[in-house]
Amino acid sequence: MSSILIKQGTIVTMDERDSIVRGDLLIEGDRIASIGSNGQTGDTVIDASGCVVIPGFVQTHIHLCQTLFRGSADDLALIDWLKKRVWPMEAAHTAGSVAASARLGIAELIKGGTTCALTMETVNHTGEVFRVVEESGFRATVGKCMMDKGDEVPSALQEITSDSIEQSVALLEEWHGKANGRIRYCFAPRFAVSCTRELLEQVGRLARERGVMIHTHASENRTECEMVESETGLRNVAYLNQVGLTGSHVALAHCVHLSKDEIETLLQTKTNVVHCPSSNLKLGSGIAPVAELLERGVSVSLGADGAACNNRLDMFTEMRTAALLQKALHGPEVLPARRALRMATIDGAIAMGLDADIGSIEVGKKADLAVIRLGGIHTSPAARDVVSSIVYSAEASDVRSVVVDGRILMNERKLLTLDESEVINRAEVETARLLGRAGLK
Ligand SMILES: [Zn+2]
Repeated sequence: MSSILIKQGTIVTMDERDSIVRGDLLIEGDRIASIGSNGQTGDTVIDASGCVVIPGFVQTHIHLCQTLFRGSADDLALIDWLKKRVWPMEAAHTAGSVAASARLGIAELIKGGTTCALTMETVNHTGEVFRVVEESGFRATVGKCMMDKGDEVPSALQEITSDSIEQSVALLEEWHGKANGRIRYCFAPRFAVSCTRELLEQVGRLARERGVMIHTHASENRTECEMVESETGLRNVAYLNQVGLTGSHVALAHCVHLSKDEIETLLQTKTNVVHCPSSNLKLGSGIAPVAELLERGVSVSLGADGAACNNRLDMFTEMRTAALLQKALHGPEVLPARRALRMATIDGAIAMGLDADIGSIEVGKKADLAVIRLGGIHTSPAARDVVSSIVYSAEASDVRSVVVDGRILMNERKLLTLDESEVINRAEVETARLLGRAGLK
């Protein structure tokens, strides 16, 4: 069994005691073998002096297939953004462009210290995303987008209900649990507006039967909420609850517009909310009631959403923005740095049902870690509390090294499983072709 020694770092464990430990961290195989002892050796050594070591970030709402759309869908509200830009571009995807998009997204995630993501892909070519996750060493729970309803949907994205279910189950059977458990499947109906009741009910039932997550969007935008309410007579979350899309295995991205009753439903059903502050701001969707959700005890974790609406996939931006937004609404004491870092790590792992293995640095857990160098101009002088530095001052380019499943994916900012310049070049070529096919050039 090979070993990695991360030497002389400040280890922010995010365990139950919130321990901060100075010393070495030893990885044996895919797991953490010891924390804080000194004088050990490893087959590979990462020098972490002057660095903090944190559990890798867990982003619970990402669209890898949209990374190529960065900068091509700006300054629109949700429904226009979908109909005029995102759906035509998703419809124009080929296997090659999806793979290029996933590589670019995963490269960006790794470079910013994210080690695990819950992703919703497009209707077609989701197998390509799984292959890229497998080859890159990244950890992800991936779902094929499901869409069997809606107007102005390009024909390439219009599905027959039974086909959508069959293709999803086929991907589940092919990929769930692969690569030492690093790869998992989730059902990913796009949102209530894009799916028939029949599809949602089948997804609700199948997810329970198969023991996999459901990942969807909910109550992001007022127009969307009105569309669902006028069709179903129910508030969005009440409708999702009725069709079986609530529970501790369900992640609802956004939840910006919630009634008191809907918050109660989320709490009672232990449904996970994914807060995407940058995306909500850029699409002008509103500000999610995160302080209230946290106070009530609803699970809230963080995601960058896609590059089409953010335009970065950077957890530092999301932590900081999440904290600042709630302070603007409720005062500076609300959502302190430590809570933001929990949302970005262990709370994301809990939402994905992976907290027994990842989300904190503990002996026996999987080695999913990020090593961050503090001490640059923007992180000096060193804060007495390193968590403050991580949440409020640090940025993605401060991440030096990243380990997933006991394998080094980036060392001293060099990606080891992806060729960075090739990833960028391929993204440029595929984006030009894709925009041409979508008629957006
Ligand atoms: Zn999204």
